[in-house]
Amino acid sequence: KGSGPVLVVEDLHVAYGRVEAVRGVSFSVDPGSLVTLVGANGAGKSSIINAISGLIRPKSGRVTFDGQDITRTPSHRLVGQGLVQVPEGRQILGTLTIEENLHLGGWHVGGASAAALAETYERFPVLGDRRHLPAGSLSGGEQQMLAIARALVARPKVLLMDEPSMGLAPKVVDEVFRVVDEIRTTGTTIVLVEQNARRALRAADHGYVLQTGEVVHSGPAEELLADPKIVEAYLGVE
Ligand code: ATP
Repeated sequence: KGSGPVLVVEDLHVAYGRVEAVRGVSFSVDPGSLVTLVGANGAGKSSIINAISGLIRPKSGRVTFDGQDITRTPSHRLVGQGLVQVPEGRQILGTLTIEENLHLGGWHVGGASAAALAETYERFPVLGDRRHLPAGSLSGGEQQMLAIARALVARPKVLLMDEPSMGLAPKVVDEVFRVVDEIRTTGTTIVLVEQNARRALRAADHGYVLQTGEVVHSGPAEELLADPKIVEAYLGVE
């Protein structure tokens, strides 16, 4: 605890059998900042985030959260400590109502509190209006908002987001990034994994570019965005 980074990843290795998905990745995240991991499909982004959140076990390396070694802490315990993930593909339970999905975000404390629900519905009025409807009736963008809202119910210190813009129409992507920015403004630290490198870097303080399981570039997001080599190799023409 104190003024150092809230999250530190050191020499992380993840393997699936013989496939070495992550090969010695290190980075740290300052409190209140937004760090993004960008890179092509298969670069290892999800593996890194899943290893941090305890969903998968790294082969080696160390993850420190809030000054504590959490490398082998199961994900359900991490939620209670304030490290919460918005999973890839949203993982909404479509037959449960929107409110029931939100309750799952607070299951470690016996469900979402009335205050947390009220806050959620204020921030996401669509979810409030439809709280008794099945979550499966929401559009893709609305389901992403629900996935984010469900994570926020746990009052994260650090929010891990895996490809929140995936599969969404451009206008809805704008909306997702607006919400990401808003969450960040409230002081929540964010680690954002994205294939949409340009959008992610625009939202971020610091960026890491991954290629086949390794960090190949890193720096302040605005420097990466201004680097012609990065633009050419990873961002393309706008
Ligand atoms: P995506 O955007 O597709 O999620 P990513 O950058 O997040 O890509 P990972 O999902 O971490 O990348 O995958 C990294 C590598 O590990 C890829 O080569 C992928 O095929 C492999 N991989 C991921 N999950 C598994 C698994 N469960 N079993 C075997 N190989 C896997």
